[in-house]
Amino acid sequence: MKIAGVKGMNDVLPAEVARWQEMERVAREVFALYGYREVRTPVVEPAQLFARGVGEATDIVNKEMYVFEDKGEELLALRPEGTAGTVRAFIEHGAYVEGPQKWFYLGPMFRRERPQKGRYRQFHQIGCEAFGIAEPFLDAEQIALLADYFARLGVVATLKLNSVGDASCRPAYLAKLKAYLVGRKAELCPDCNERIERNPLRVLDCKVEACQPVLNAAPKLLEELCDGCRAHLDQVKAGLDALGVAYRVDGRLVRGLDYYVRTAYEFTSDALGSQSAVAGGGRYDRLVETLGGPPTPGIGFALGEERLAMILEKAGRAPPATGPAVFFVSADAEGAMEALRRAAELRKAGVACDLDPRGGKMKAQFKQAERVGARWALVLGGEEVRSGQGKLKDVKTREEKAVALGELVELLRRSASSGPASTFRAPGPWVAIYSARTSAPVDTPRRREGKS
Ligand code: ATP
Ligand code: MG
Repeated sequence: MKIAGVKGMNDVLPAEVARWQEMERVAREVFALYGYREVRTPVVEPAQLFARGVGEATDIVNKEMYVFEDKGEELLALRPEGTAGTVRAFIEHGAYVEGPQKWFYLGPMFRRERPQKGRYRQFHQIGCEAFGIAEPFLDAEQIALLADYFARLGVVATLKLNSVGDASCRPAYLAKLKAYLVGRKAELCPDCNERIERNPLRVLDCKVEACQPVLNAAPKLLEELCDGCRAHLDQVKAGLDALGVAYRVDGRLVRGLDYYVRTAYEFTSDALGSQSAVAGGGRYDRLVETLGGPPTPGIGFALGEERLAMILEKAGRAPPATGPAVFFVSADAEGAMEALRRAAELRKAGVACDLDPRGGKMKAQFKQAERVGARWALVLGGEEVRSGQGKLKDVKTREEKAVALGELVELLRRSASSGPASTFRAPGPWVAIYSARTSAPVDTPRRREGKS
């Protein structure tokens, strides 16, 4: 009996994996340039963590989370997102005592949503979290990091920016918004109606066409920000301007999660159709405290790898080729044995190569060389073994060049080292940049507490 994979959970086959490796390699490189270090946390966490950290009122926890009882013990959940687990680890290991930290993660997340293009039940996120700094230039730097990442991949994405306020301005606004939405209830979709009580801010995020006129005319938080939030937003914008990152302020941009304050941002792409968001982020100054840690501001984003892969594919950006440098074609039994030995020699020297242990017709072996994407084919038989001479044949152009078998390693190692593979970077920035005094905002939480 044939068993199919789970609905909404995808295989990434070898032909596509090169693209994924590229997305992740560039992420690691760019993040290291900004001082972010990788953290790896479990895929399974106590369900409680998300109920508290993400919020019971969110769709993610309320409807979409995979929860199971661990053999009559604790209620566990497959992580629906990466922030809560990262924060748990940050607190559990007392990382805050070392001062500000910049961490990133990547890996699978799980949400039981209705599967459709760009929306799956297992999907992958790359995310950054920065802890311990409330100043808006951190926000600008993190947004610029993401813009930098997209630019390096050759992806065009639009940045939307907003402020979702904080404890001093949001409650009054929410009351006003709620009153407005209740008054227009009849014109809103069932989802909106359900959210008015539970999570009114989230109503602004509705994509249903019929709801748009009501939502566009809704009161705007942007117009009712307190002085602190207003100043913070202005500084984020000034930082982005200084870094040359273009943005559009969108008063209707909200984050679906409860712990966000002030900065909210999103990158979208036209290539994605209706699921247009490729990455979303924001400031969560209350989250660490909510999860039992000391008051610690933070800001982070998560990017959807499936959606980024779709953009890259649509833009016709081919994943880097990964074929072997040479494919040995054996002409006879003696050649087959020589190929085995030569292949071992090349691999020892770090040169990728392959051969077909079945031997067989040379034409079929050349076909094989083509199929695996080899750069060269090299025929080996008794004749080549005795003369120590062979011919490297360019698999694409069919051009040939003579080669002494004894010099094969040297020749191929030289041409391989000019390839892209070796981009190792030491972890940690090379230079720390200190400013005597940043033109900091008038009213960040740190200042209010008199610490700066
Ligand atoms: P959306 O409004 O598209 O549902 P979201 O607000 O639920 O997004 P976040 O929780 O902020 O998304 O996750 C960040 C990113 O992760 C999204 O921008 C998207 O690229 C990706 N993402 C979220 N849910 C899924 C999913 N079910 N399948 C694939 N990618 C997803
Ligand atoms: Mg969602």
